[in-house]
Amino acid sequence: MNTFISASGPALVAPGSWLGMVGGGQLGRMFCHAAQSLGYKVAVLEPDPLSPAGVVADLHICAPYDDEQALASLSERCAAITTEFENVSAQALTSLAQQRRVTPSGEAVGIVQDRIREKAFIAQAGVPLAPYAVIESLADLEQADEALFPGILKAARFGYDGKGQARVATREQALQAYEQFGGVACVLEALQDLEFEISVVMARALDGQVQAFPCARNEHRDGILAVSTVSESLQGSTWCEQARSNAAAIAEQLGYYGVMCVEFFILRDGRLIANEVAPRPHNSGHYTMDASLTCQFEQQVRVMTGLPLGSPTTLCPAIMLNLLGERWFDEQGQYQEPDWQALLAIPGVCLHLYGKLEPRHGRKMGHVNILGANDEQVHQRAAQAAAVLGMAFHE
Ligand code: ATP
Ligand code: MG
Repeated sequence: MNTFISASGPALVAPGSWLGMVGGGQLGRMFCHAAQSLGYKVAVLEPDPLSPAGVVADLHICAPYDDEQALASLSERCAAITTEFENVSAQALTSLAQQRRVTPSGEAVGIVQDRIREKAFIAQAGVPLAPYAVIESLADLEQADEALFPGILKAARFGYDGKGQARVATREQALQAYEQFGGVACVLEALQDLEFEISVVMARALDGQVQAFPCARNEHRDGILAVSTVSESLQGSTWCEQARSNAAAIAEQLGYYGVMCVEFFILRDGRLIANEVAPRPHNSGHYTMDASLTCQFEQQVRVMTGLPLGSPTTLCPAIMLNLLGERWFDEQGQYQEPDWQALLAIPGVCLHLYGKLEPRHGRKMGHVNILGANDEQVHQRAAQAAAVLGMAFHE
């Protein structure tokens, strides 16, 4: 049942109202900016006193995510509530939903934050996946199909940026990794022969309307997204079509409201399979902030407030480079700020920094969107930007 819609359509939460955000990371910060520019006020629930979103919010409720008093004050103030991170308590979202509109629902988040439930859901939605087995005991691992090796053992909960994962060539290695993970529930996935990876960010509105942004091709380094490329050449491929229709099928069957991202693998044999779902805006959708008529964060605001979805039309090709903490250090490990002047002298370069004070290896400090008139120009500018940043670039 859709409890957000009356006969006259979704009730509008008008500009000027308060919106609630559970989580204070960079996705929350960019959400605040988008919401504030539409005239909303944002209250952020986040325990870190100096978080990226907390410092730009109209109100920072500084408390743990599951603090009952804090959740109550969020729902008292805010007409609609959303979240920016996957490991939010699904139960907290469900209980907030008794008072307020919460998108996405605790139920949908509860499914996608658990790889076991997520994979079962994706499979029953008719979307292809890598072969996998559920591992809830040593016996499950001892009996797992030999065809799953070499594979990747992934903890079912609380993984991100490649954390909670181990590549395992053999069953013996898998048994070791399982013990190292402390025997938590896992999935064992067959290692796939990847040609490349793509993702699609889409929004599903309270009336069920779906809008997808162009697909991005993603390059990971050390398990962390490094480069997303949104090229004209990719958009025409049948993979993008398949990715969009698979993502829409997953969202519809989940009864999902909000912005979500689905990551896909393109295999060497040309097949497209789904990897995982993120129930929120995604790092690979940051290019929309500069290249698209509506960005993914504004789309999140529009869904939760009952405004019509914005146009996902993207005006030009784009490449996003993630700025990780290592960009703040030279080869000798000495602190050295990136050369912002040289970077921003390159035409088509847009810089987004998240206000994090301490650059650390692997920490997402910001990103750079690079725009251009065509694929070739964007590529050339991105190569220039990467050179200024001392970052490998070879697409
Ligand atoms: P993130 O939070 O960055 O999305 P994650 O920790 O949720 O990462 P996954 O998306 O499952 O982890 O995997 C991270 C990366 O590892 C993938 O983008 C892909 O490059 C590689 N990978 C994961 N599963 C497989 C597989 N079955 N076969 C080959 N490569 C894989
Ligand atoms: Mg992933």
